[in-house]
Amino acid sequence: MRDLLGLSPLDVARAVRDVAPEPFRAAQVLKWIYERRAADFAEMTNLPKAMREALAKDFVIGLPNVVSRTPTSDGTEKFLFELSDGARVEAVYIVESKKAPSWTDPETPGASRVTICLSSQAGCAVDCVFCVTGRMGAGRNLTAGEIVGQYLAIARAKSFGPHEANVVFMGMGEPLLNVANVVRALDLLDEEVSPKRVTVSTAGVVPGIEALAGRPRRPNLAVSLSGADDATRTKLMPINRTYPLAELFAALKRWPLERGRRITFEYVLIAGVNDTLAAAAKLAALVRPLPSKVNLIPLNESKEWLPGLKRPSDAVVNAFAKAVADDGVPVTVRRSKGLQADAACGQLKGREEPARPKGPRAP
Ligand code: SF4
Repeated sequence: MRDLLGLSPLDVARAVRDVAPEPFRAAQVLKWIYERRAADFAEMTNLPKAMREALAKDFVIGLPNVVSRTPTSDGTEKFLFELSDGARVEAVYIVESKKAPSWTDPETPGASRVTICLSSQAGCAVDCVFCVTGRMGAGRNLTAGEIVGQYLAIARAKSFGPHEANVVFMGMGEPLLNVANVVRALDLLDEEVSPKRVTVSTAGVVPGIEALAGRPRRPNLAVSLSGADDATRTKLMPINRTYPLAELFAALKRWPLERGRRITFEYVLIAGVNDTLAAAAKLAALVRPLPSKVNLIPLNESKEWLPGLKRPSDAVVNAFAKAVADDGVPVTVRRSKGLQADAACGQLKGREEPARPKGPRAP
């Protein structure tokens, strides 16, 4: 049985031509899969019954199995998926106010928007100190079909249509260590979600940034920084040894930003580690030469997975944010959605019951 999910339109047309020879049939099948969220050929009611049955004999639409759904009172819902080889990944449905809360204006309500946070790998080898996924160790790259499948399965479950959601690659894994499949997934989602509404978040994989920079239609770029000097950043994000700040920022300077767009720098704030006013000044000085904004993420604590790491107090977070803003850099504080369901930033682990963490870890 061949999976149609993840194939390009041309490859779908080639694959189905023996059972659906008219050229428009492949387009119909694709429309059912991507726009109408079909999970089965039997749902494709504008195809002749015999054709639907013939398709079902040879092909599948490989949506991932939903193992569990964990909703929270803030509207966020975490989906745990099982893939065809048994690997498990998580993706998150997030509803948020259109006006992002900022440190100056923390709770302004507005119209809601939907964001889907997708995983790109089952596990992650990058091993950022503050991230539960990183504590699980390396997994495998997801295929383009497995990435797109998370989106379509959630769209089907939550009944939203094309152009109604943003997509962020901030789930499990480092997207730019799986750049070929992420790019293929972006191409498949192109009709569904414009690149302006997609954000790829990277720990700073320079070759991946360069690969994305070469695309004619680029997503927004978010870079996880969390340290504004090499010594601090290497302690928190070992990938900084491979791509130190000078090399990373040289690549970011070459990133072709469209007018009005900015690079987002994510900064996980950890008490006593990177949360001083001096660190804030260093951060602002580092990112200010680029069109940039800073997204501060107070650590999502986990006694079990991130022992010894503490979230700074709100007063420290606000003072840090104010210092960055006073230095001329737009700044927001992410009040993480989904904390009740362990669905917030850095908490995804692809399993219902936590397994034993790798061991104590401190920066
Ligand atoms: S923050 Fe991202 S890159 Fe770092 S360990 Fe977690 S999933 Fe991997």
